Amino acid sequence: MKYTKIAIIGAGNVGSTIAYACMFQNSAAEIMLVDTNNDFCKGQVIDLRDALAFSKSSRIVQGTFKQAGQSDIIIICAGAKQKPGEKRTELIGTNKKVIATIFEELGSIKKDTVIVMVTNPLDVLTLYAQEISGHPQHLIFGSGTYLDTQRLCGYVSEKIAVAPESIHAYMIGEHGDSEFPAWSCARIGGNPLSSFTELTPAVLDKITQETRNKAYEIIKCKGATYFGIGACVAAICKTIIFDEKTILPLSFFHQEYGVCFSLPAVLGANGIEKVFDLPLNAIEKKSLLSSIEKIKKDAQGL
Ligand code: NAD
Repeated sequence: MKYTKIAIIGAGNVGSTIAYACMFQNSAAEIMLVDTNNDFCKGQVIDLRDALAFSKSSRIVQGTFKQAGQSDIIIICAGAKQKPGEKRTELIGTNKKVIATIFEELGSIKKDTVIVMVTNPLDVLTLYAQEISGHPQHLIFGSGTYLDTQRLCGYVSEKIAVAPESIHAYMIGEHGDSEFPAWSCARIGGNPLSSFTELTPAVLDKITQETRNKAYEIIKCKGATYFGIGACVAAICKTIIFDEKTILPLSFFHQEYGVCFSLPAVLGANGIEKVFDLPLNAIEKKSLLSSIEKIKKDAQGL
């Protein structure tokens, strides 16, 4: 019987919340935390262990980078976070160094390990991690606009009183300021948004802005975001472990453009397994191209 191991690099707000969310979905036998701050990491592990009695996960441990390299899933969420008002892209210089150190320390990575990038700026650092690790591109991707998509569906849900999971809509492009909703492809109970009178253009614009700004709002109030991303990354892990083949908006490499950005993709045990071309309208196609251009420009700073 396979003994599934998840390693989380970076035991801060995001890493510890991912560990906590993974514990309560009982999908992995072992969850390992790794951090350059040893005492802090030890504290997070022994604190999380107190919750083990309430979940069925079997082990939560502190590990080394080398041990993490042999895990089934590696989640990378180490590094600096945004200060109030700071853009994700402003973290690029600091976090590029963090990612470089991590891959150096990991050494050889098991060849079928799935690597999930979470550190911001997400899209350019996913590309950077692919380049320096040489790991197969379908096995290394970013959490992308999955969280933003959940935020979007949450706002739509509030307007029309339909559960968020019954709203099929995606935020796409950059996990950042140029992301946007592919409204023309959205469906609710098989119906396009135009059949919902509550969803006027003004309401949809407001939802778009609120979705883009939600992280800024949370950071302004409490300094960091972690519950939403914790739940999203735990769901990504479960999808991989159970080979669910769920369609999620994740940040992966697009040969045609030479960068990573988010579009819906089938996620399974082999990472990104299938990609769909969204039938975007002309305005959305233009928005996607300008989001890609922004990521390309940011990636030049790598
Ligand atoms: P945090 O400050 O709470 O934790 C960061 C941790 O990384 C610290 O414990 C630190 O010791 C550790 N660290 C630093 N360098 C390291 C290294 N080389 N190896 C191992 N550990 C190292 O920050 P946080 O709130 O957990 O945020 C972490 C990252 O996640 C940030 O870049 C943040 O912007 C990003 N984030 C991404 C999303 C998303 O949707 N992709 C959402 C929220 C946060």
